[in-house]
Amino acid sequence: MRVIEKWSLSPEQRDELWQMQHNKCCGCGRPIKRESARLDYNPKTYRARGWVCYLCSIISRAANDMDKFNQVIERLHKHPPADKFYAE
Ligand SMILES: [Zn+2]
Repeated sequence: MRVIEKWSLSPEQRDELWQMQHNKCCGCGRPIKRESARLDYNPKTYRARGWVCYLCSIISRAANDMDKFNQVIERLHKHPPADKFYAE
């Protein structure tokens, strides 16, 4: 069985999940259109999590690797290299 078949829900399950979420992103709760929604999944278990908007899919993917997430926050948000061009 290919990996994608393990985590993929059937079309009927995808529809049921979508209806359960009432046209809202399960991350931020904002309304989303079905055609732009993404099915988020756990990359370790390959189990689907829920329909999310674009931004929440990025956030969720970042949270899949917290070490990298924390590294980016440390390097980019706490110590942005471009800060040297701005007066204090
Ligand atoms: Zn969202």
